[in-house]
Amino acid sequence: MPENQIKEIARKYALKNAMDYGSARLGAVLNKVLSEVPKFRENIKEAEKIITEVINEVNAMPKADIEKEVAKYTFIKKEERIGLPELEWVTPGMQVNTRFAPNPSGFMHIGHAKIAVLCDEYSKKYNGRFYLRFDDTDPKTKKPLPEAYAQTAKDLEWLGCNVYQIIKQSERIELYYKFAEELIRNGNAYVCTCAKEEMQENRKRGIACACRSSSKEEALDKWAKMKTVYKEGEAVLRLKTDLAHPNSSIRDWVMFRIIDYAHPVTGTKYRVWPLYNFASAVDDHEMQITLVIRGKEHELNQMKQQYLFDAFSWHMPHVLEVGALKVQGELAHKSDIKIAISEGRLSGWDDPRAPTIMGFRTKGVNPKAIREYIIASGIKKHDSYLDLQKIAAISKKLS
Ligand SMILES: [Zn+2]
Repeated sequence: MPENQIKEIARKYALKNAMDYGSARLGAVLNKVLSEVPKFRENIKEAEKIITEVINEVNAMPKADIEKEVAKYTFIKKEERIGLPELEWVTPGMQVNTRFAPNPSGFMHIGHAKIAVLCDEYSKKYNGRFYLRFDDTDPKTKKPLPEAYAQTAKDLEWLGCNVYQIIKQSERIELYYKFAEELIRNGNAYVCTCAKEEMQENRKRGIACACRSSSKEEALDKWAKMKTVYKEGEAVLRLKTDLAHPNSSIRDWVMFRIIDYAHPVTGTKYRVWPLYNFASAVDDHEMQITLVIRGKEHELNQMKQQYLFDAFSWHMPHVLEVGALKVQGELAHKSDIKIAISEGRLSGWDDPRAPTIMGFRTKGVNPKAIREYIIASGIKKHDSYLDLQKIAAISKKLS
């Protein structure tokens, strides 16, 4: 990576940032550098290191020197559009329905807030419905926190989102079973009882197992046994996709599996649980979702779900892929926050240092500023870093 080039660009923006806000901050400068030279993303850690050094230098400079040096550069101010861009596929009078589908295994952080606010804003713009739908069909590895349900609803309200309905997928299991049985009866799904290693090998080689050609009656019988007889890991319900698909994870992907673990909402009532792609596709159809806003990490899921939509002859919602809103440093992920809390470095999810919605609230940030910041950053495909200075500046402007 051309170190001098980064240094030069970073210095320009660090000076400007320091002049505008008193001191330069990594998030702000990094975003500017990356938008000027996107290829620096390829080695983000290195870029961060260099930029941090530059920022330290600039922040140590006397104010007069900063002003003098910054005058050498010209900064073109981009024209700022108010609100989100129009969606080209929306016809006059059309409603746009969206959903925010968090996993209640933790609390909302700023990255989730981006998707939620964009969804809410588009549903408002086109007079549609905005659903809060909890993706909570894995009681074991993504153990739902009972208090996360109400808190997420509260956080959305605080952010000014207008939730039309709150849905817990764990309460819709019977509906998912109904659609699963329909798929089996139509010959689009089968219960696979192969050993894991055998199935992995078959999948890798694109070979069908014997279960795939079982009769509908046989498959329905095995499906019933999933609820009663089989143990965890002994049987799964698969969708027939394309065994020759170049991506082996798409080949006959798993829709349901057995998880013997009590769920905070439904207890031990169910032991056969749908996976994310099945529950999500069914609900997007049932709720007439017309726009899905998602991150790049869901690209493969969309490809998997397409097979399900096709099997039912349903229309897939429009998809808008947006870049992630990331947080720098050691509290970047939900899991980091969890660890920091357990080690006592944070007092809780509402600690003002946590990049959670609860944390922002404790800190006294104006929620309208967060909202405006997210909407202004728009629907670009590339990732960006949280710029607290910008939020503070918007907050000041609003007060
Ligand atoms: Zn099998």
